[in-house]
Amino acid sequence: MKVQEINRQIRENSIENIINKRDRKKDKKPLQAYAASWANEDRLYDSVGYTIFIVLPTSGCEWATKSGGCTMCSYIADSPLTDISEENLIEIFDNEWKKQLDKTDISSHENVAIKLFVSGSFLNKNEIPEKVQEYIFNEFNKYDQIKEVIVESKPEYIDEESLKRLGNLIPNKIFEIGIGLETSNEDTRLNKINKGITNKSFEKCVSIINSIDEYDIRAKAYLLVKPILISEKQAIQESIDSAKYARELGVRRLAYCPATVHGGTMMDYLWKRGSYNPPWIWSVIEIIKEVRKNVDIPMIMDTAGFGTRRGPFNCKKCNAKLKSLIIKSNLEQEIPEELETFSCECKKKWEADLEFSDILNTTTSPKD
Ligand code: SF4
Ligand SMILES: [Zn+2]
Repeated sequence: MKVQEINRQIRENSIENIINKRDRKKDKKPLQAYAASWANEDRLYDSVGYTIFIVLPTSGCEWATKSGGCTMCSYIADSPLTDISEENLIEIFDNEWKKQLDKTDISSHENVAIKLFVSGSFLNKNEIPEKVQEYIFNEFNKYDQIKEVIVESKPEYIDEESLKRLGNLIPNKIFEIGIGLETSNEDTRLNKINKGITNKSFEKCVSIINSIDEYDIRAKAYLLVKPILISEKQAIQESIDSAKYARELGVRRLAYCPATVHGGTMMDYLWKRGSYNPPWIWSVIEIIKEVRKNVDIPMIMDTAGFGTRRGPFNCKKCNAKLKSLIIKSNLEQEIPEELETFSCECKKKWEADLEFSDILNTTTSPKD
């Protein structure tokens, strides 16, 4: 059976389980409970700044509900899986936005970025209707201190009309669209991640983004470190190659997501059967060193899940320290000296894993 078919079955079962579980509960979660927002210091293009994160619920990523979605993604489990009216979406946004405005006076910050997550594609009008997209952008445009507005979208929803329509609402801000490229290896992306994005479609949408002169619209690439069914060594190489590929196309910023195993996904199915392990933190460091030295665009390495049973892992002695050094590297956009020279006894195991996992095209467990 092909990966796509197994993935679709796993997703269908997972969605059915979610629906049954929710039906069994007497008190269904209100729609607002699927939303979230928080803020912290994060790296902007030109400096460290105040960043507000807003998660809005939608009817669910269409790619996941229709095709089974990506083999590492469980966002669908965070969706209410029902249609949400425009009015409800606006009300939910307003509540989260007000929470953040109550928490801080935006005008007291010099540089603010907004990251909007919809667990799917912001530019897909079936997920976020035009009226809601525009309402949100008009709110952001009220504040000069907001320098960057970042949304996410699959390439098929990125067209000149949508970009200009939204760019026109925030004409003096950087409008960034994060696209899940995941890897420059098309075979891995189509057949192992099941992303449904060809190199051609990615290249086309980056060129559309870069062709718009009137507004400062930029492409960001999300890259997955260690998809399923590739070795540790191949995962490192693909991550490095992907940064170079994206840079050459005109992508302006990179965001790596080292894999964490989420329930209800094909990655979880393989992990439970001993056929997948998340990357070593040593592998992540290798990627940081190569990319910071050889690819001259900003790069962020996500550290969510680091040191947990389902996330990137070295050993209990060095996980936490390395995580904090990677966060430092994100903020400074450099390789901290300590990270450059750091060593731990677990490094030998990683080196052996690199050597042998390539032969076996699987990994030994780093989590003993
Ligand atoms: S990674 Fe994005 S496109 Fe893929 S299933 Fe998740 S939300 Fe959908
Ligand atoms: Zn260690």
